[in-house]
Amino acid sequence: MNRKRWGIGVLALLVVLFGLWQLSKARTFQVFGELHHRVETSEKVVALTFDDGPSPANTPPLLALLAQHQVKATFFMVGRNIEAHRELAARVISEGHQVGNHSYSHKRLVFRSPSTIQEEISRTDALLREVGARGEIFFRAPFGKKLLVLPWLLARDNRKHIIFDVVPDDHATQDASLLTSRVLEATRPGSIILLHDGWATKPGTIEATRRILEGLKAQGYRFVTVSELLALAGKGSPAPDP
Ligand SMILES: [Zn+2]
Repeated sequence: MNRKRWGIGVLALLVVLFGLWQLSKARTFQVFGELHHRVETSEKVVALTFDDGPSPANTPPLLALLAQHQVKATFFMVGRNIEAHRELAARVISEGHQVGNHSYSHKRLVFRSPSTIQEEISRTDALLREVGARGEIFFRAPFGKKLLVLPWLLARDNRKHIIFDVVPDDHATQDASLLTSRVLEATRPGSIILLHDGWATKPGTIEATRRILEGLKAQGYRFVTVSELLALAGKGSPAPDP
C-alpha cells in the first residue's frame, strides 16, 4: 500500500515538474501580462533581434552591416555587459537601434525570489537609461524562461515581454549557411528573429546576418524594430527617437 502511494506521489510530482518545464519555455503563453513572440500581419515585415551584448567582438561588425543596409534592429542587452562596454551600448542607441532589457546577470529567472528578479530588471533598466535609452524598455527573459514571478512583476509594471518565433540557434552552431537557411525557411510576415551578439566572437552569426539581410530583402521583406513591429499590429506605440 505504502509503495503504491509512493508511486502515485512520484508520478504526480513528475507530472507537475513536466508542466512547469513546459510553462517555463512556452512561447505563446505566460500566466500574467503581455508576451509577444511575433505579430499577426500580412505585411512583409520582420524584426531582427540580437541578445546578450554588447560585445566588442560582435556588436561593431553587426552595427556596420546594419548601417550598410540601412536597417534598424533591436538589441536585448545584459546589464553587466553594458557596465563593461558603456560606450558601445550608447553607440547602439545613437545609431538608431532599439535596446531592450535582458536581465543583469543572465541567470534563469525561474525559482528565484521576487526581490532577486526585480533587482535583475531594475539594475539593467538604470544602466540602459544611463547610456541613453528613452521611451518604453521591453524585456526579454534569459533563455526565454519564465514561470510566475517574472510575468507577474512585468505585468504589474505594464512591461511587455518579447520573445521570438525564429530561432536559428547560433549558440549551438556557427555554420553561416545553416543559420541562414534556418532563418529564411522559418521567417514569415511579423516574425521576430533571435540571434546573439554577446560574449565570444561569432563569425557565423555575423556572416549569417549579412546573408539574412540580403535574402529577406530579396523576398520583399522590410526590417523594423520590435517597437515598430508591435505598432504595425496595433499592439503599442513606437518608442520615441533616441
Ligand atoms: Zn540571452
